[in-house]
Amino acid sequence: MTAQAIRAVRPMPTIEQLRQGLHLSFSQMQTYMICPESYRFQYVRGVKPEFVGSALPFGNAIHEALASYYRQIQATGEPPSLEALKASFADHWSVQEEHGKDFVRFKGKETWSGLKDMGVGLLEAYYTWRAGLGVPTHDEIVAVELPLSATLGDIEFIGAIDLILRDRDKPDRYHLIDHKTSARRFDETRIATDHQLTAYRFLVEESGYLPMGAEFGFYWDVLLKQKNPVVERYSTVRTEEAVKAFLGSAKAILRGIDHEVYFPSPGWGCTDCGFAAMCSAK
Ligand code: SF4
Repeated sequence: MTAQAIRAVRPMPTIEQLRQGLHLSFSQMQTYMICPESYRFQYVRGVKPEFVGSALPFGNAIHEALASYYRQIQATGEPPSLEALKASFADHWSVQEEHGKDFVRFKGKETWSGLKDMGVGLLEAYYTWRAGLGVPTHDEIVAVELPLSATLGDIEFIGAIDLILRDRDKPDRYHLIDHKTSARRFDETRIATDHQLTAYRFLVEESGYLPMGAEFGFYWDVLLKQKNPVVERYSTVRTEEAVKAFLGSAKAILRGIDHEVYFPSPGWGCTDCGFAAMCSAK
């Protein structure tokens, strides 16, 4: 059964609908791993952070623009023009500015207009890089920003996969891709072990979205925020053992939440923490 056939018989809920049930998401898991106290502020007490770092709205606008890019290819077989891609980013960035005007905290000399220029530059680099990989003819686009859920003990683990491609030369092979913006190149440890791509494997296998026996390739497509923006692809694998390790971490976090194990964990996460003013560690 192909992924398309699976989608045809199973209506896919939106990520907002998935969030309404009892769940653990990858971003919740990540928040707990960085600092259990910030998890408590955000998800247990429901405290509104005093600010968010600029990387969050910036990453959101880039994600939205890339999703529009791939949805157009999926619908028409042709990519949008570079100008349309840049305009899409500008629109999404305006929305972020409107909603975050008094809420977003910038780093150093960052400004709304400076980050807009940065986003445009990154997408120019992405457009050229992706065209070099053969878009749209090389791979079939199976899904863009796909929300999935899978049972994890008594609750659902939920997440959205940025992009799934099906290899035209090897139809049983699917490429699971996560888009990232980053100021730094990923190091080997992160490429090999970061739980996000492992969560992707868990979600596609356990949800039954892709056919049994499908082969997977995992990729970080990273838009590097530097003076001359570039895009780098990091290809990696996620084994069954990696999935077991991921599940061990997820279940440990759920036990911690069940037993109200929360404590401040000062570190790099404090820089962009909107709960710092309320935190006993600060
Ligand atoms: S300021 Fe640091 S230690 Fe305190 S909640 Fe935020 S991330 Fe945790």
